[in-house]
Amino acid sequence: MAIKEALEQKLREQGTEGLEGATNEGLYRALLQLTREKLEQAPRLQGDRKLYYISAEFLVGKLLSNNLINLGIYEEVKETLAQAGKSLAEVEEAEAEPSLGNGGLGRLAACYLDSAATLGLCADGVGLLYHFGLFRQKFEEYKQMEKPDHWLSEQSWLRKTDVSFEVPFPGGGLRSVMYDIDVSGYENGVNRLHLFDLETVDEDIVREGIDFDKKDISRNLTLFLYPDDSDRAGRLLRVYQQYFMVSSAAQLILKELSGKGYALRDLHKHVVIQINDTHPSMVIPELIRLLQKDGISMDEAISIVSQTCAYTNHTILAEALEKWPMDYLEEAVPGLVPIIRELDRRAKEKYPDPKVAIIDEKNLVHMAHMDIHYGFSVNGVAALHTEILRSSELKAFAGIYPQKFNNKTNGITFRRWLMHCNPELAAYITELIGSGWKKNAQELEKLLAFQDDEAVLSRILEIKQEKKKALKEYLFSSSKIEVDDASIFDIQIKRLHEYKRQQMNALYIIWKYMQIKAGHKPRRPITLLFGAKAAPAYIVAKDIIHLILCLSEMIGKDPEVSPWLKVVMVENYNVAWAERLIPACDISEQISLASKEASGTGNMKFMLNGAVTLGTMDGANVEIHDLVGRENIAIFGKPSEEIIKLYDEKAYDPADFYPADPEITQLLDFIISPAMMRLGDPECLGRLYKSIAKKDWFMAMLDVKEYIQVKERLFEEYEDRTAWAKKMLVNIAKAGFFSSDRAVAQYDQDVWHLRG
Ligand SMILES: *Cc1c(COP(=O)(O)O)cnc(C)c1O
Repeated sequence: MAIKEALEQKLREQGTEGLEGATNEGLYRALLQLTREKLEQAPRLQGDRKLYYISAEFLVGKLLSNNLINLGIYEEVKETLAQAGKSLAEVEEAEAEPSLGNGGLGRLAACYLDSAATLGLCADGVGLLYHFGLFRQKFEEYKQMEKPDHWLSEQSWLRKTDVSFEVPFPGGGLRSVMYDIDVSGYENGVNRLHLFDLETVDEDIVREGIDFDKKDISRNLTLFLYPDDSDRAGRLLRVYQQYFMVSSAAQLILKELSGKGYALRDLHKHVVIQINDTHPSMVIPELIRLLQKDGISMDEAISIVSQTCAYTNHTILAEALEKWPMDYLEEAVPGLVPIIRELDRRAKEKYPDPKVAIIDEKNLVHMAHMDIHYGFSVNGVAALHTEILRSSELKAFAGIYPQKFNNKTNGITFRRWLMHCNPELAAYITELIGSGWKKNAQELEKLLAFQDDEAVLSRILEIKQEKKKALKEYLFSSSKIEVDDASIFDIQIKRLHEYKRQQMNALYIIWKYMQIKAGHKPRRPITLLFGAKAAPAYIVAKDIIHLILCLSEMIGKDPEVSPWLKVVMVENYNVAWAERLIPACDISEQISLASKEASGTGNMKFMLNGAVTLGTMDGANVEIHDLVGRENIAIFGKPSEEIIKLYDEKAYDPADFYPADPEITQLLDFIISPAMMRLGDPECLGRLYKSIAKKDWFMAMLDVKEYIQVKERLFEEYEDRTAWAKKMLVNIAKAGFFSSDRAVAQYDQDVWHLRG
C-alpha cells in the first residue's frame, strides 16, 4: 500500500477523514503507528555472536524522522504531507524527545546503535527506562530550575514485552519489566534497545521540582537519571539503580543464550558485552554470581566473564571515575560483595601495586579497576585520550595489560547529524559527488575537488545562510528570542562543566562588552549562543549559567552594545536543539582545558555541517586539526603535556593572573560590579568570582588572553567570505573519519568480532 493510503487509513481509525483535515498531533500518531508496523515487519538482525551495549544513558533524540530515513520512506512521507499542505518538520514537533541521557556519553550510545544496525551487526542496547529522565530545565530569575521531564506518553516507540526479572535486594526482590524500542539501520534490518523499568515504580512520590524520597527504593528506582548524589541516600540510590540495570541485563543475556540452545559456559563465544563507562561495571560480578548459581566454578566463571566483557573509558576526571565505599555495596548489593572481594584478592595476589587494587586502603571499590582486570579490552575514545590513559592515568594497568588497551575515536551518525538536520547540505553534497558518502563517509573527500570552485563555495555559504535564517525564525517562534542572521553565529552547546570552560567564553563576552563600550565596534555583529544543563548539585556550574543569563540581559538592555553583541542561552538544551543549532553555526566553540575532554562529539557534528572549530588541542579536536590542517581550524591554549605537568606539580597559581594581571583582573571584577550585582544574585556572582579568582581549577585564566586574541582573529577571517567558504568545505570533506560507522566497524574488527 502506498504511504498516502496507509496514512489515511490510520487517520480514519482515529476518526479523521483525509490528511488535510488532520492536526499535526494526529498525523504524528498516524505516522508513529505506521512506522512502528514497518519496523516490526523489518528483518531482525541475526548472528551467532551478539553484542550487548550496556549504558546508563541512551540519548536517542526524536525517532520519527530517523526511522523514516533508515526505512527509506522519508522523502515519500515528506512529499505526501506537503501535497496535503502539511509539513513533516511541524508534525515532528508533536514528538516528545526521550529523556534517557545527559550528554555526549548517551548520545554516543545512540549513534553506535544506529551504526551497528546500519552495518548489519547483531547488537542490542540495554539500559533503564527513566520516567522523568534527567530533568527539564527552566530559567527563572536568570537561574536554572529543574522540573520532571514528562516525556512518556500513551503512544510512543516503546513496546512492553513479557520479559521480566526478579532483581535481588536486601529488603526483598524487585521486579524489572522490559520495554523495547526498535533500532533501525540505514537501509538494513533492526536491532533493539531494551529498557528496564521497575514494576512497582510510583511517579506520585515526586514532590516539589525533582525532589522525592531517595530511600523509597521499591518505588523510585526508575524515576530519574543521575539522581542528586550530594548525600549518602542519593549515592546509594545510584548503586541500587546500577545493580537493577545490570542484573536485569545479565539475566536477559543468559536467558537469550540458553534460548538459542547454547551452554552457559560458552557465553564468551556467543556474547560480547560493551560496558559504557563504569555505571554498568557490576555486570561483571553479577554474571559471575549467576554462572556460579548454575553450577559453574568460580575459576571458570571468572575466566568466561573476563573473555566476555570490554570496557570503554570516557573520562580522566578523577572525580568522575566511580569509587563506591565498600559499606554502600554491603548495604545495597550484599550478594556481589564476596565476589568483588574475591576478584580483588586474586588481582592483589598477582599485582600487589596498590595503584591497581580494586579495593583500596580506604575500602573504596574502584569500578574501572575491576573492569580492567576482568575485561578483555579497555578503550579510550580519542587518540589523545587513549594516549593519556596509557602514559599517565592508567599507566600501571597499561604496563600489566598492554594488549588490552586500544583506541576507538568516537563518531556520530551522519543520518541524524547531516541527512536529517541539514537536508539542504546533504542534497547539495549528493549533487556534487553522488550518494556513495551515505554508506561510505570517506567519499566526502571528493568534495576537495571543489575547493576553488566559486559556484560551489557560494552555494555552501547560501545554505549556511538558509540554516541561520531557519534558526532565527525558530528562536523567535519558540522562545521570542530575536537574533540577527547577518551576524556571526558562534555556538557553545554541551553540558555545563568547569573543564569545558563556558566561564572562559563568558569572560570573552565581558571583554567584548567593554570593548564596544569603549567605542571599538566589531566589523559585523556577533551572536553568541549557549545551551547547557548543569547537574542539580553542581553549584559552580549553576553559577556560570547565572552569569551568562545576567550578561545576556545586561547586554540586551544596553542600546550601545546590543546592536553589536547578542548573548542567547536556549532553555532545556537537548538533541532537538542541537539539530537546529548545529547546521546554523559559523564558529564551533570547543575550548575545554587540554587533556580534560576525552573526545567530544559535538565538535564532529559542527565540522560536518561546515562550522569552523575554535578550540584547544584536546580530545578529538587534535584529530580534527590533523585532518583539516592548521589553516582550517583556530587553535589556542596551553598543550595537554603542560597542563598535566601543572597538575602533577601543583604548579598552577591563580594569583599569577588575579590580581597580578590587570587585564584579567578587570574581567573578573566585572562579575561583581555594581551593575551586575543589582541585576543578578550577589551570592551566586560573588561565589563564582571567588571560585575563579582563588581556585580556577580548570585554568580559564591561563588561556583566556590567547582565547580572546584567536577568537578576534577568527572574526576577522570571517570577512573574507570566499576564504571562509573554503575552510567550511575542507571541514565537511574531512569529516568522514568521524562517522560512527567507521568507529563501530573498528570496534567490531578489534573488539567484538561479531562477523566471525
Ligand atoms: C552531541 C551532544 C552532546 C555532546 O556534546 P560535546 O560538545 O561533545 O560535549 C551533548 N548533548 C547533546 C544533546 C548532543 O547532541
